[in-house]
Amino acid sequence: MEKKNIIVLLSGGMDSATLLWYVKREFPEVYAISFNYGQRHSVEITYAKEIAKIAGVKDHIVVDIPVYSAVRESALLNEEIDIPSGEYTEEPPITTVPMRNINFLSIASIFADILEINYIGIGVHALDVPYPDCRPEFIAAAEAAINAGSTFVAKKKERIHIYAPFLGMTKKEIAKLGKDLGVPYEKTYSCYKGTLPPCGECPTCLQRKEALESIGYQP
Ligand SMILES: [Zn+2]
Repeated sequence: MEKKNIIVLLSGGMDSATLLWYVKREFPEVYAISFNYGQRHSVEITYAKEIAKIAGVKDHIVVDIPVYSAVRESALLNEEIDIPSGEYTEEPPITTVPMRNINFLSIASIFADILEINYIGIGVHALDVPYPDCRPEFIAAAEAAINAGSTFVAKKKERIHIYAPFLGMTKKEIAKLGKDLGVPYEKTYSCYKGTLPPCGECPTCLQRKEALESIGYQP
């Protein structure tokens, strides 16, 4: 399939920003989509908007997912649950947002369907495997469901691909790639606590720090 266009799930963190710069080399037309789902680190959306602007995407779509206000079982949605410090210890982690990626991908697929976009990009990587909806078997199943339900696919006899080129990569490898691509990591944000400056001790802060230190980046 010719790589014409793609819509990238953009959180504002370093993985999805790197994916954005990576796909800019391969696709003539790049869209980005971000989600406001009541996450306690919703400040990331401000960063996502800036990154999308710097990347020069064709359009950056920001979507509200209000249903998550009814979900209290995740530390990312309920401020009364502490964000753990240190590396992930439980599986799935308390920071899991139930069924997040199936919602993100299905909403992105709406725009793929109406704008006739063949690829949906997602920055999941090897360190995300504690989260069930970041695993290869989920990605493959989501792609199958999207193709089965798409009017664009039915009419044009084309495919919609879920593009997850970082699936086998570690965060350090992603950082190395991003350095070569010139990703402006100072414009990205990852902290689960949503503080400014970032807390420096939650799992995502630690992963980010380790990855960026490995490429000699000084925050
Ligand atoms: Zn943090």
